[in-house]
Amino acid sequence: MEKTTHFDYIIIGAGAAGLMLANAMVNDDFFSKKSILLLDKDAKTSNDRTWCFWEKGEGQFDSIVSKTWNHIYFGSKNFSKDYAIAPYQYKMVQGIDFYKTYFETLKDSQNVIYRQQEVLNVKEKGSKILVKTTNANYSASKVFNSIFDYKMATHQKKYPVLQQHFLGWTIKTEKPVFNPDQATYMDFSVQQKGNTRFMYILPFSENEALVEYTLFSEKRLSKEEYEDALANYLQKKLKCGSYEITEIEKGSIPMTAYSFNEHHTENLRYIGTAGGWAKPSTGYTFMSTSKKIPVLISFLKTGKPLNELSFKNRFWFYDLLFLDVLAKRNGQGHQIFESLFKKCPPQLIFKFLDEQTSLFEDLKFISACPTTLFLKALFNRLI
Ligand SMILES: Cc1cc2nc3c(=O)[nH]c(=O)nc-3n(C[C@H](O)[C@H](O)[C@H](O)COP(=O)(O)OP(=O)(O)OC[C@H]3O[C@@H](n4cnc5c(N)ncnc54)[C@H](O)[C@@H]3O)c2cc1C
Repeated sequence: MEKTTHFDYIIIGAGAAGLMLANAMVNDDFFSKKSILLLDKDAKTSNDRTWCFWEKGEGQFDSIVSKTWNHIYFGSKNFSKDYAIAPYQYKMVQGIDFYKTYFETLKDSQNVIYRQQEVLNVKEKGSKILVKTTNANYSASKVFNSIFDYKMATHQKKYPVLQQHFLGWTIKTEKPVFNPDQATYMDFSVQQKGNTRFMYILPFSENEALVEYTLFSEKRLSKEEYEDALANYLQKKLKCGSYEITEIEKGSIPMTAYSFNEHHTENLRYIGTAGGWAKPSTGYTFMSTSKKIPVLISFLKTGKPLNELSFKNRFWFYDLLFLDVLAKRNGQGHQIFESLFKKCPPQLIFKFLDEQTSLFEDLKFISACPTTLFLKALFNRLI
């Protein structure tokens, strides 16, 4: 019989959610006598992603924020505008800086152990959770799992499951092309081809930027389709001239109002993207994860079953209607965003997406969307 080592808590995945949770535990006396195991199949030593988010004033990630923008650009065929976003800033954290900083804190901790091992399966046995990895068997009283698989959401048909999928190139141009203080939030001037397709640009200087071809749709494209769209946009729209690609970023983030709740149990909780923490209508997950972690920490102290914690609120219903519309009329997504940016200041859009608006502000936001599309979606959900 192989030996099983027991921990109070096991956190699976040392990505955004796993590291934020481990860090919060280390910084809280309640957990100082608890044994915590953090597992990841990866060494987390590569810059596998950049995280952007908007924020007012100073924030908890400022020491690792590598770039900020005070302006955003929205563009479509019929409308385009540069917006000053104060009091917000659009901020960027490089994955590698996040991993380094968060692992550094864990290194000094007495009760968190990190092991680079691939998790093969997670099973419940009585009041324990068993975790089998490539190298060992573990058990824990509580497990937090951040391994995401689309099958977690696509087994059901009640809620559409779209993806925010993208390919991004960090490029260096010979001539100055970019405005370093303006991020392109969405540029819908690209061909829509029956989907919601746009370009997203994070300029680091006049000559360097991360340019991402992004879709909100059901299926991913072939590598060539993303690449052709990027090359075409860089030459025809941005008139970049010659450029060098220095880094590549690709990804897919689930967009669904499916709640993921049925996967949680008394002692097992999915976190991060796997816990349904990606904002269904936008895919933004980083900031929302940082806001959910303290709630989860407080909840843990109550000793209540982990599946009793719910993050559902009225914004879930708005996201649901938006995704119903987007799934049914994927080629009309650009019209929704165009209408929104025409009628709403970005400050209200950010506040709404942060789920901090009052009911009156919700109405202002909703009335800026093409109302017939949303009323139809509402009607279909109600009957
Ligand atoms: C390229 C990219 C860019 C993004 N940009 C933004 C952004 O700008 N803003 C934003 O808000 N959100 C963004 N997101 C969405 C979201 O913030 C990230 O996906 C975020 O990393 C999610 O955190 P997580 O902990 O749920 O998952 P992850 O950070 O992916 O962590 C999961 C961890 O589990 C590990 N793992 C997986 N399988 C196993 C296994 N079998 N055994 C052991 N370990 C395993 C992985 O190695 C990984 O480290 C982006 C996503 C991607 C992919």
